[in-house]
Amino acid sequence: CGIIGILGHHEVSPQLVDALRRLEYRGYDSAGVATVDASGQLDRRRAVGKLVNLSDRLVHEPLQGHAGIGHTRWATHGPATEVNAHPHQSGRVAVVHNGIIENFRELRAELAELGIQPESQTDTETVALWTAHHLDQGLSPLEAARATLARLQGAFALAFLFQGEGDLLIAARKGSPLAIGHGNGEMFLGSDAVALAPFTDRITYLEDGDHAVLTRAGLQVWDAEGHQAHRATARIDVGA
Ligand code: GLU
Repeated sequence: CGIIGILGHHEVSPQLVDALRRLEYRGYDSAGVATVDASGQLDRRRAVGKLVNLSDRLVHEPLQGHAGIGHTRWATHGPATEVNAHPHQSGRVAVVHNGIIENFRELRAELAELGIQPESQTDTETVALWTAHHLDQGLSPLEAARATLARLQGAFALAFLFQGEGDLLIAARKGSPLAIGHGNGEMFLGSDAVALAPFTDRITYLEDGDHAVLTRAGLQVWDAEGHQAHRATARIDVGA
């Protein structure tokens, strides 16, 4: 339901939770964050219910790192449990998702043939499982995300975070909005500019079918045909 991603210069998990608070108005049943720390370790924390449950969890089990993604979930597939909460992680990738992957049963059946079993009931976890499988086959993070995106039907905004990649977020949208925020040597993404208002007012909206690579140095976008695309950046006043 709500997505946030940050490549920052500070401990990112409190920033992720603050940004998720700004998305609470959309409604949610659970929440979670994932980060990559200085050693490249990818880890996550999730909690059912209010964001305070997630921030309590983070007090007792802190997450380090300057790169991360966060999510508030409004369940469509699978009940509101911690196992079904996002980020969904498989091996070296973590994913947050808004929307519905319509063909997830088919994607899950193909994974079963490869001996890969999901741990959740969500449509979203198939995205993480397929991307991890592609990474295991030797694809780069961008190639692995693209190979997965090519298989997805339905409506989605997605953000991918990778182990060992503290300066990389991959984003994609089809049918669900996604905004990219430009800071000073920091980059952000969010399901709307309101979530990004505390960090920056310089916003690029992805167009339908786009996918993008974010690093602290900047943004690269490709359109639905796979051609590199220019998307305008504008100052958006949503009131911090
Ligand atoms: N379909 C996904 C799920 O149920 C994402 C729901 C959402 O947009 O929050 O986990």
